[in-house]
Amino acid sequence: MSKQPHSTADALLQRALQHVEDWEQSWGAFDRHQSLGVDPDRLDAALDEYLERLEGNYPFHHPRYAGQMLKPPHPVALAAYAAAQRINPNNHALDGGPPTSQMEKEVVADLASMLGLPDTALGHLTGGGTVANLEALWVARELHPDQSLAVAENAHYTHGRMSDVLDVEVVPVPADARGRIDLDALNRVLDKYAIGTVVLTAGTTGLGAVDPIDEAVALCEAHDARIHVDAAYGGFFRLLTEDAAPEIEGFPAERFRAIEEADSVAIDPHKHGLQPYGCGCILFRDPAVGRFYQHDSPYTYFTSEDLHLGEISLECSRAGAAAGALWCTLRALPLEPDEGLGPILAACVRAARTWTKAVADSEALAVVAPPETDIVSYVPTTDEPTLSAVHEASQALFDAAMNDPDDPIFTSVYRLSADALATLHPSLTPDREEAAVLRSVLMKPEHETHAASLVDRLAAIAQSVPASSDSVRDRDGPS
Ligand SMILES: *Cc1c(COP(=O)(O)O)cnc(C)c1O
Repeated sequence: MSKQPHSTADALLQRALQHVEDWEQSWGAFDRHQSLGVDPDRLDAALDEYLERLEGNYPFHHPRYAGQMLKPPHPVALAAYAAAQRINPNNHALDGGPPTSQMEKEVVADLASMLGLPDTALGHLTGGGTVANLEALWVARELHPDQSLAVAENAHYTHGRMSDVLDVEVVPVPADARGRIDLDALNRVLDKYAIGTVVLTAGTTGLGAVDPIDEAVALCEAHDARIHVDAAYGGFFRLLTEDAAPEIEGFPAERFRAIEEADSVAIDPHKHGLQPYGCGCILFRDPAVGRFYQHDSPYTYFTSEDLHLGEISLECSRAGAAAGALWCTLRALPLEPDEGLGPILAACVRAARTWTKAVADSEALAVVAPPETDIVSYVPTTDEPTLSAVHEASQALFDAAMNDPDDPIFTSVYRLSADALATLHPSLTPDREEAAVLRSVLMKPEHETHAASLVDRLAAIAQSVPASSDSVRDRDGPS
C-alpha cells in the first residue's frame, strides 16, 4: 500500500467541500438573501488583515517549534472538519446531526477499546479535557457526596479549579521529583481521609510523566476508592503497549496498560489524536452513571428512542464536525500500534530519547529528568551550581533561541520546585524556592529526525548567550 504522508490539505479540502456543495445543490437552487452579500473591497481588506495577523503565530507546524502542546491538525481531519462544518451539524441531539452523532458513538467506542475499557463503557466527546475532567469529578461527587477527592500535586490545575466549581473537598497528595504521584503518600491519604475517588494522570502536562497507575489500583481497591485517570495528554500512548508496537526504552507500558482498570478516563483527541481544538472525550466504565445527567429539554425534538448524546453530556451544542473529523481521521489512520496512529506516537517517544541523549552528550546543556513520554526537560550548564544561575540561564536561553533572527527555536519554560531539583540534581545549591528549566513537547513525528540538530543548535545558542538578569521575564507555563 503506498502512503501519501504529504497528501496536500488543498486537494483534500477541495474534494470534501465540492462534495458538500454538490449535495447542497441537489436540494434545489435558491437565491441567497442579498443581506448576506459582502462588499468586495471590504472583504478583501478584512481577509488581507486577517491573514496577515495570523502570521503573528509561532510556527506550530515546524520542527523548530518544540514548545507547548501545539500542532496543526492532520490534513484528513482538516478536510473532514471543513466538510461537516459547512453543514454545521450539532451533536447535542440525534436530529441535530444524525450521521455525525452516529460517528461520535463509533469513535467513542474505538477510544474506549484502545484504553482497554469494556464495550459497555459510556462516553461522549467534549469541547476538551477540561470539560471531560469536570464531568468525571462531577460524577465522582454524585456517587460519593460525602467523600473527598485525592488529587496529586502533579495533576493539571483544572482539577483544583473544577473541585472549587463543584464544591468538593480535595486532599492533595505529594508527587515525587519527576512529577509522579507518591504512592506512600497516597496510602497515608487513603488511610486517613474518606476518599471517594483518586485522580491519577497518564502523561502530565508538565513533564509528560505517568503516575504508577498499575500500583495504585490495588491501593485504591483496598480502600474502596474509585480511580479517575486524566489521560488528556497521554491516552493515545496506550497504543504503544500492544504486542505489535515497537519497544522503546524507558516507556512506562505497564502504567499505561493499567488505564483499563480506571472507573473513568479523560482523553483529548485534540492533543495526540491529530484533531483541531474542540475535541476531548470522557469515558465511564459503568454506564449506569448516565442517570446523573438529567435531561428533559422541551426544545429537543425526539424522533427516535435511541439515547441522545445530549442526554449524557453537560454541554448542549457541540460541533458535529469534531466527531466527523475524528471519525474520518481514525478510518484513514487507525488506532493500531503498527499503522495509523501508533507509528506517529512511537516517533514522538523516540524523539524524546534522541533529544535527551543529545543533551547528555552536550557540554552546554544538561538533562533535568529522563522523559517517560515525549516531553523533555533540560537546562543550560552554568558556572555557578545554584538554582539562581540555572533559572537565569534557562530564561536567557529560552529568549535567545526564540528571538534568533536567522534560525529560531521555540521551547517553553517550566518551573520546578527547589525540592524536586534538589532530588534530581543534589549538587545545585537551593538559593531559590523554584527555578525555571526548559521543556520541549516533541509531539510531531518529524521531531525524531530533527531532535539531534535542534539540540546542537540550542547548545550553540546557549554558549553564545551569557545569562543576564535583563532577559529574565516571566512566561506563561504550560496550558
Ligand atoms: C491539556 C490537559 C488538560 C486540559 O485539557 P484542555 O483540552 O486543554 O481543556 C487536562 N489534563 C491534562 C493532563 C492535560 O494535558
